Amino acid sequence: MAVHKTQVGIVGAGPAGLLLGQLLHLNGIDSVILENRTRDYVIDRVRAGVLEQGTVDLLRAMGVGAGLDSRGLRHDGLYISVQQRRHRIDLADLTDGRAITVYGQNEVVKDLIDARVATGRPLNFEAGGVSIDGLDARPVIRFQHAGAEHEVRCDIIAGCDGFHGICRPSIPADALTVYERSYPFGWLGILAEVGPSSDELVYAHHERGFALFSMRSPTVTRLYLQVPPDESIDNWPDDAIWDEMVTRMMSLDGWKPNIGRIIQKGVTPMRSFVAAPMRHGRLFLAGDAAHIVPPTGAKGLNLAASDVLVLAHAVKAFYQRGQSDALDQYSDVCLRRVWRAQRFSWWMTSTLHRFPDDGPFDLQRQIADLEYLTSSRAAMTSLAEQYVGLPPEVSFESAGLSGG
Ligand SMILES: Cc1cc2nc3c(=O)[nH]c(=O)nc-3n(C[C@H](O)[C@H](O)[C@H](O)COP(=O)(O)OP(=O)(O)OC[C@H]3O[C@@H](n4cnc5c(N)ncnc54)[C@H](O)[C@@H]3O)c2cc1C
Repeated sequence: MAVHKTQVGIVGAGPAGLLLGQLLHLNGIDSVILENRTRDYVIDRVRAGVLEQGTVDLLRAMGVGAGLDSRGLRHDGLYISVQQRRHRIDLADLTDGRAITVYGQNEVVKDLIDARVATGRPLNFEAGGVSIDGLDARPVIRFQHAGAEHEVRCDIIAGCDGFHGICRPSIPADALTVYERSYPFGWLGILAEVGPSSDELVYAHHERGFALFSMRSPTVTRLYLQVPPDESIDNWPDDAIWDEMVTRMMSLDGWKPNIGRIIQKGVTPMRSFVAAPMRHGRLFLAGDAAHIVPPTGAKGLNLAASDVLVLAHAVKAFYQRGQSDALDQYSDVCLRRVWRAQRFSWWMTSTLHRFPDDGPFDLQRQIADLEYLTSSRAAMTSLAEQYVGLPPEVSFESAGLSGG
């Protein structure tokens, strides 16, 4: 058995684990990152694409914003389509110049992997049989790599291993409260090799179900359709997907998505989930390991970034000033934002999607809701400030960064 020592052992090289590793590095704190998948798998996974203003500012302040600045697409607004009429919400005007940036999660992950490799600090892909132990006093992470057994001894473990990881299940069940809601629908998502016909996202309410128009680059469109949660993708030949996209999105002024070759498609179920507290002994959960939001509000990746900013601030205080107060407050500080994001994501989801039990009353109520939203400056401001992201829970300076 090979024994290694570090300060923070990080399980998972998704956005949460990689961001945390980089924030710790910038503060001179050692970490080991363990990931059970291959590097290519982690980079190629197509997921989030909408970055809040605070996430963009964080990546820049960390010195990993070059790709974002050259290839990210800043959006000052978004559209909500109700009864085939598109209404623009001017996010920047309503929030003193804040905006969102469309930059694929796989690009963010690739940039962070490059930054990690440049630090020379350990990042092990294809770590098998990862397990954690000693959470009360002497944390250890065990894993297999290249045919050998390894043990990492550390002061703190960061559980950044996503919803299906091993860290959350390592906490005794009676020490966690789980809050959960599943939705009676999922999203059929496609990537298509065609230039987007709108410069900004279009959230389309339609009596046949919700649809979302978005993009990944000037040549790749990303679109979603509300479908039943257990829908098989085999039921959706490409022509049927485009017919349904156009039906749900086309507006009375003639706008509709451009049609092109579909290069990837799949169905994702939707859920809201929170496990609390986000800390057990010396294990700290961050990102999807602790919470899941339905993707309608585009909050998942952004919440992961917010968690690790708070964790980096707390770990810095622990090592540099010998104070554990911020570690003790980590879960409460993160959960305040998590619940606000949960509420916003639930609200966006329930306002825009059709539920199987909904009748004509509910359809008219949703239309009234959305027409109010798109005509009241107060209502639009509320959406805009949550969509571009609430202010960070801790300052960038307190996490060892300048600016923000
Ligand atoms: C289809 C889809 C669309 C989405 N759209 C958006 C969006 O528009 N905006 C947004 O903000 N969010 C969106 N999200 C959510 C976002 O992708 C997640 O919230 C984000 O990936 C969370 O990052 P994470 O690092 O916490 O978890 P993950 O990205 O899941 O990373 C966890 C990592 O841990 C690894 N791991 C798991 N188990 C182990 C183990 N036992 N040992 C070692 N490593 C392990 C995994 O392989 C993975 O690399 C979307 C998600 C999906 C599925």
